[in-house]
Amino acid sequence: MDKIGKVAVLIKQVPATESVKIDPKTGVMMREGLAVEVNPLDLHAIEEAVRLKESLGVHVTAVTMGPPAAEKAARFAVAMGCDEGVVVSDRAFAGSDTLATSTVLAGALRKLGPFDLALAGERATDGETGQVGPAVAALLDFSVLTYVSKLEPRQGQVAFERAIEGGHERLLAPLPALAVVVKEINVPRLCTLAGKLRGKKAEIRNLSAADLGLPAERLGLAGSPTKVVRVDYPQVVRKGRKISAAENFDDAVLALEKFLKNIGLEGV
Ligand SMILES: Cc1cc2nc3c(=O)[nH]c(=O)nc-3n(C[C@H](O)[C@H](O)[C@H](O)COP(=O)(O)OP(=O)(O)OC[C@H]3O[C@@H](n4cnc5c(N)ncnc54)[C@H](O)[C@@H]3O)c2cc1C
Repeated sequence: MDKIGKVAVLIKQVPATESVKIDPKTGVMMREGLAVEVNPLDLHAIEEAVRLKESLGVHVTAVTMGPPAAEKAARFAVAMGCDEGVVVSDRAFAGSDTLATSTVLAGALRKLGPFDLALAGERATDGETGQVGPAVAALLDFSVLTYVSKLEPRQGQVAFERAIEGGHERLLAPLPALAVVVKEINVPRLCTLAGKLRGKKAEIRNLSAADLGLPAERLGLAGSPTKVVRVDYPQVVRKGRKISAAENFDDAVLALEKFLKNIGLEGV
């Protein structure tokens, strides 16, 4: 491969909240009615892809798997500068675990490619497994680059830096490759007004299960070996004793001081 031409960015639409509830019966996340946004860590993947477009003239395709409403995420990626946005959506994908999700995304990249490079965020703020990027790379037989904090495609190769404890590793890998980027790699740009208009008008392509030609047993619940058998919420029980009914701060401090003195902890 002489020159890098096509780049894919994987983006996930996530609830715009940290407090996602899990259905205690099915173990599946309850997403209905929640405001959504592009996974914040994926903005760094989009930014890096758009920078490659600006410096090397590559063509950037943003791909998201989700419900039809994930189209909004695809439009956002175009507004940030991606050339096109694709939504991979089908009822057959419902109940997908990370393997089934990665199978679908790898199928989409096969269909839309060939790509020289794919980019993904470090993890999604809802599922938080961090498995999808490396799994897609493995399914496509791409080089797997993780914790990438700097990226520089060369002829047939990609030079990259990897964040490790206490420093960075500098490495070279053959293309095609999938890089999972960390947030230190760049500062995502804000969408311009012109970008927002481009995103709004963009034709968003849809891919269904039939388009991917994957066997039904690899999709959705059937293709998901992970089973949520039980969901437990840890009970936070603090055994405590109220040592003062004081209504003002000074009296409360005096009561605490007296209490600590009585149990021999004065001056600790
Ligand atoms: C048994 C089971 C059933 C489930 N059922 C459902 C369900 O019915 N509906 C549902 O929505 N979720 C369901 N999930 C959750 C779903 O599997 C995960 O949300 C999904 O696999 C992504 O995993 P993650 O959130 O940990 O992503 P991570 O691996 O943390 O994501 C890392 C990166 O991969 C990319 N990425 C991840 N997901 C996508 C995506 N969808 N599209 C594009 N890029 C992506 C992004 O770049 C992201 O930053 C289920 C999970 C299990 C275990």
